[in-house]
Amino acid sequence: QRGNLHAEVLVLGAGPGGYTAAFRAADLGQRVVLVERYPTLGGVCLNVGCIPSKALLHVAKVLTEAEAMSHAGIHFGRPRIELAELRKWKDDVVARLTKGLSSLAKQRQVPVVQGVGEFVGPHALKVKTAEGHKTITFDACIIAAGSQAVKLPGLPDGDPRVMDSTDALRLDEIPRRLLVIGGGIIGLEMATVYHALGSRISVVELQDGLIPGVDRDVIKPLEKKIRARYEAIYLKTRVAKVEALNEGLRVTFEGDQAPEPQVYDRVLVAVGRRPNGKAIQAEAAGVRVDERGYIPVDRQQRTNVPHIFAIGDICGEPMLAHKATHEGKVAAEVIAGMKSAFDARTIPSVAYTDPEVAWMGATEIDLKAQGIDYERAVFPWAASGRALAGGGADGLTKLLFDKATRRLLGAAMVGPHAGELISETVLALEMGAEAEDIGLTIHPHPTLSETVYFAAEMAEGTITDLY
Ligand code: FAD
Repeated sequence: QRGNLHAEVLVLGAGPGGYTAAFRAADLGQRVVLVERYPTLGGVCLNVGCIPSKALLHVAKVLTEAEAMSHAGIHFGRPRIELAELRKWKDDVVARLTKGLSSLAKQRQVPVVQGVGEFVGPHALKVKTAEGHKTITFDACIIAAGSQAVKLPGLPDGDPRVMDSTDALRLDEIPRRLLVIGGGIIGLEMATVYHALGSRISVVELQDGLIPGVDRDVIKPLEKKIRARYEAIYLKTRVAKVEALNEGLRVTFEGDQAPEPQVYDRVLVAVGRRPNGKAIQAEAAGVRVDERGYIPVDRQQRTNVPHIFAIGDICGEPMLAHKATHEGKVAAEVIAGMKSAFDARTIPSVAYTDPEVAWMGATEIDLKAQGIDYERAVFPWAASGRALAGGGADGLTKLLFDKATRRLLGAAMVGPHAGELISETVLALEMGAEAEDIGLTIHPHPTLSETVYFAAEMAEGTITDLY
């Protein structure tokens, strides 16, 4: 037990939640120690999540847009893909960011202890480091240990052809035929990447639609586009068996629409993520973990143990980096004695597919279930000059307003840059904006952001100008 440390604030896990909490706590004058099992900071998001996937999705976008320009008389020919160079470029993007985080930690004099941590008491964490065990005692602790990919039982163990998202992002090879198990955001983003790089893609999804839970009208343009591009999309279908053969992975399906068994070069399992709550000996600190592995918290991110907080993927859905960072700030501020609370009206979601899909606030599915009287305004991007010029004619922007108060309740969009456009509606919802407020806000022309304004004008019955 050499080199034991004491922290005023101990942060377990250096993902977006953990590093944000650690830096905020240090800025507020606390003595912070950050514990992370991997050599780089940034967690899933920077190392094997948001950032490498978006780097590769950028490549996918360039490839598909270049190909689409043939409609405009511009022919680039077949791209030559040097996989090793592409991998290096993607790794460089990640490394720049993770190195940046290390220097931010140094600037703030936040020591990073590299090793696997587990609680050994309500004020002590044992860390297994390369040099042996260290015990760090703490006054307060923020648990930010994140989540991991759910594994499907019965798949060939240790076969490199069966991938999770981390494996897929490594880009070992471009399989000729790839089956993506799970039609959620992560599966469809990776499908977008591999399709652009030349794989033939099939997607299998248990539910009756892709990205379940989101209004179908915004998913339809995505589904239509990828049905035309991909080899197959099997809905309401389950993978019953995967057998490892020399020539590939033989997959047997179950369900009404199930095809005959098929052989794929690789399979990507993207069936969700589960929180790491059961992997940190939380019980030794008296912290309650629910049966799924989540750590329940209150609006101040406090667990059932008053000096221990939890943030990010480990404390609940949605598992998104921007939720983790906001919660991280709240926890650090509460520990420093500030009156902070997680008080967001909504957490926006984006699928960075082609086309992009973004949504926030209530969906129509939610509003109907809650019996709320709402008005729906949908602006089709086919009526936007900018969208037509930029390959987004099949997009749409939908705003949902409370019929009685005229306030914005939710928004959803599909089309290029939908993920950028959604922020305006998040701000509108946070500010309690009414349809009229958005309709009276001058948006630059010609932009895709105008589609938000046009939809609001449609709700107000004042729309006069299109294109
Ligand atoms: P994590 O990022 O999971 O970090 C937890 C950290 O804790 C890890 O570094 C882990 O090594 C460490 N840790 C865990 N246990 C221990 C232990 N016992 N001892 C020491 N260290 C430990 N979200 C978005 O908002 N936008 C996106 O575009 C997006 N894309 C994604 C793409 C993919 C492929 C994946 C997998 C996820 C994506 N996400 C995205 C989700 C996002 O990555 C997570 O929501 C986010 O990383 C959660 O942050 P966190 O701080 O809670 O935990």
